[in-house]
Amino acid sequence: MYIPVVGLEIHVQANTKSKMFCRCSTNYFHKAPNSNICPVCFGLPGALPIPNKMALFKTIKLALALNCEIAEESKFDRKNYFYPDLPKGYQISQFDKPIGTNGFVEFEIGDDARRVRIERIHLEEDTAKSMHTDGGDTFIDFNKSSIPLMEIVTKPDFTDVEEVTAFAKRLRQIVRYTDTSGAEMQKGQMRFELNISVKKTEEVGLPNYKVEIKNIGSISVLEKVLRYEFERQSKLLESGAVIKPHTRGLKGMSGETLFQRSKETADDYRYFPEPDIPPFKIEKTYIASVKETIEELPVDKKRKYIDLGLEIEQADIFIEDLDRGTYFDSVLKAKDSIDKNFVRLIANWINSDLAGLLEKKKMNFADSPVTAKDLIYMESLFTKNKITGAIVKKVMSLQFMTSDSANEIIQNQNLMQVDNENEISAFIKKVIESNPKVVKDVSKNPNAIKFLVGQVMRESKGKANPKIVEKLLNQKLL
Ligand code: ZN
Ligand code: MN
Repeated sequence: MYIPVVGLEIHVQANTKSKMFCRCSTNYFHKAPNSNICPVCFGLPGALPIPNKMALFKTIKLALALNCEIAEESKFDRKNYFYPDLPKGYQISQFDKPIGTNGFVEFEIGDDARRVRIERIHLEEDTAKSMHTDGGDTFIDFNKSSIPLMEIVTKPDFTDVEEVTAFAKRLRQIVRYTDTSGAEMQKGQMRFELNISVKKTEEVGLPNYKVEIKNIGSISVLEKVLRYEFERQSKLLESGAVIKPHTRGLKGMSGETLFQRSKETADDYRYFPEPDIPPFKIEKTYIASVKETIEELPVDKKRKYIDLGLEIEQADIFIEDLDRGTYFDSVLKAKDSIDKNFVRLIANWINSDLAGLLEKKKMNFADSPVTAKDLIYMESLFTKNKITGAIVKKVMSLQFMTSDSANEIIQNQNLMQVDNENEISAFIKKVIESNPKVVKDVSKNPNAIKFLVGQVMRESKGKANPKIVEKLLNQKLL
């Protein structure tokens, strides 16, 4: 039996307004190539980098949310390597004094809690973008060059594929909850690098090799690559082969990988302190003030939802979709006292009815015409059997067409459930008259009553109390 041993490096673009070391905008999407640059981020010799304070703030904030210790003293270093998208011949990064070290991330697989250690988080600059043409030319667009980039390195703690994907999702949630990055993967705002090797279950320690796969831009591809590499390496080891350290690239989005280059020795980037940026201190009082800006984190929010009575699947929906979670919280907050039934019912209405209506109109939960007050009002009628679930659904969809409150719609359209036995008897009389055959069958066919209840409900436009309908039908026909 083999198990994978996996470590991750994750690059996350910080969502600042300006770039890491100059005042160019970070909003480079859909801009003409090389229109969003200056001498600093274009890498002209002699240009002076000035660190972005907001990028430091965001990195410290994320480091704290990842339970890291924050360096009292930190600095930037030059990481020297040549690549066409790096015209300076070095990247300004951090070497021996990263912003954060020794953290951890907690996440769950089902109801099983897991924890993975974070080795470090540091701040650096993004590179330019190479664009290859079909004709074999390569163009370079510097618009992305020097966007602030937070690099997070985990310990090789993962021992199964599910753990890696659950961690990746939780990390993306933390980044969004702390507003340190949009973490939109299709825009390249969050990228994964995978270090994976395989060992026998009983083997202690780490394998003597690792395979590196760079530039994984989605969690589903990450999962496919993991499965592919685990199987590929397990088979090789099973056949007695020795795997040497090497780097592999992606072959499309299928998860298949291809050999790129061997990596017999560690890369030597000849790091040295960036001479243009002096080392800096991070004061304890500053760290405390950053910490205060962190609101409820996903692991705590999920625990809260589970304690309130939500199933894991429902809780996960609210955790993953911040907009929806915030809306749900606003409903819970607006009610004086909440119990499990309330929490579950509201969650269900939001996830099965309201979410669909909003999606149809391409609207956010923040702009929902159905407010917390509307839901609480309908819940009180629903639990008193004054309206049915079908009516709730109908009122919600009407709210998208008018600007009326649920209260106004229910009153104006007279949607309250009919409990009055005389009124219901009138509906029943009508249904019995128009279904003589079914009525004759009632004694033989137990489904006939159900059918008739349905007809009465229809006749009353869903307003008759179905329990009373059934009771009266039984009295009349059996
Ligand atoms: Zn610039
Ligand atoms: Mn990096």
